[in-house]
Amino acid sequence: MLIYRYKREAVAMPKIYLIDVTNRDGVQTAKLGLSKLEKTLINIYLDEMGVFQSEFGFPTTRHETNYLLANLELAEKGALRQIRMAGWIRAMVEDVETTFQLVPNIKHLNLSISTSEQMITGKFQGKMTKNTVIKEMTEAVKCARKCGAETIGANAEDASRTDIDFLIEFGLAAKESGADRFRYCDTLGFDNPFTIYETAKTLAEKVGLPIELHCHGDLGMAVANSIAGARGVVDGGQDAYINTTINGIGERAGNADLIAVILALTKSKGFAAKYPLAGNIKLKLASKIAKFTSYAFDVPIPINQPGVGANAFAHASGIHADGVLKDPGNYELYNYEELGRGDPISVETGREIITGQYSGISGFGHVMGKLEVTFKSREEANEILELVRYANVESHKPLVEDELLFIARYPQIAKKLLTMTPLE
Ligand SMILES: [Zn+2]
Repeated sequence: MLIYRYKREAVAMPKIYLIDVTNRDGVQTAKLGLSKLEKTLINIYLDEMGVFQSEFGFPTTRHETNYLLANLELAEKGALRQIRMAGWIRAMVEDVETTFQLVPNIKHLNLSISTSEQMITGKFQGKMTKNTVIKEMTEAVKCARKCGAETIGANAEDASRTDIDFLIEFGLAAKESGADRFRYCDTLGFDNPFTIYETAKTLAEKVGLPIELHCHGDLGMAVANSIAGARGVVDGGQDAYINTTINGIGERAGNADLIAVILALTKSKGFAAKYPLAGNIKLKLASKIAKFTSYAFDVPIPINQPGVGANAFAHASGIHADGVLKDPGNYELYNYEELGRGDPISVETGREIITGQYSGISGFGHVMGKLEVTFKSREEANEILELVRYANVESHKPLVEDELLFIARYPQIAKKLLTMTPLE
């Protein structure tokens, strides 16, 4: 008997990608917010870091329209080089239509709807059934595709409290209607690494779509659940996409912290060899993005934050200090320089000239001169100063150097970011 052995086509090994949702989940957080310029800088930093996608805002929310359009323009100009900019909306035809009216050139969308019994009875209160949940979502996906969306994610809100059979049905319906990814939302942080591994693997196998893991920290496991879920997805044969936020800022106890997720994926025992992180992530920008986001949200970085906290590389006890001086590898898992730490920072202790909402041209000229920015004319300097004043009105704090440089470089975009017209 002849046995024919067919050479199987080489199949690319599934990988893990990062989708940062600071500009969506982060800004939704109670008591916190960001100016549109701050959101824009975060997109720029995420792009520089090599993050795959930024969930950059809410296309149906009117005060976001100019910001979203301006950021898509930045992508066209090449100021955002590789990052995908995705909007987040409810999975409803009406919201999809509004999205494409307000932001016609948006290309990537996530459409969200609740799937759990708890939400169907407790939130929709009889207005929806499992069937109508699927119907709303599939119609929204088809509409988004027709309107020009290039990639569409179907988000199952409260997926971790949804029975697995319905999740599979929901995922298959999403796939059939044209969705590119399925977002598994552990909305309440209910999962643990063992449960999310099993569920994510089953979904990857049975639905056959790349899966996103959206994890919250209500039980302190957002990062652990994210990597366990990603492992499940990869073991199930699909690409995994982890949702992160910078400094873990997000609803209630927050989301999976971007830097901690990168560290866990790349430095934890034996993980990266079997479950690789896609792309070229520049961890060197970790310190910069964490610091800026902390300043922008006005939320300090906890001193024990992985990698970027003030104590992440601090040693006091005799045994540890002695050990780390002999060989840092004795008590440090990774080097501080890898996270962009270690450079001296200069802090002004004498006279300070700061630009604010009531600044004049002389002080402004002094500040910009220090940044080596010169203006062609007094008119141009006045125009940039006016934009800086307005940016200050929105952020209520002195702008950082990168914000000033951004306004000087892209005054027209900055003007758009600062323009909001309510109740038009
Ligand atoms: Zn969330």
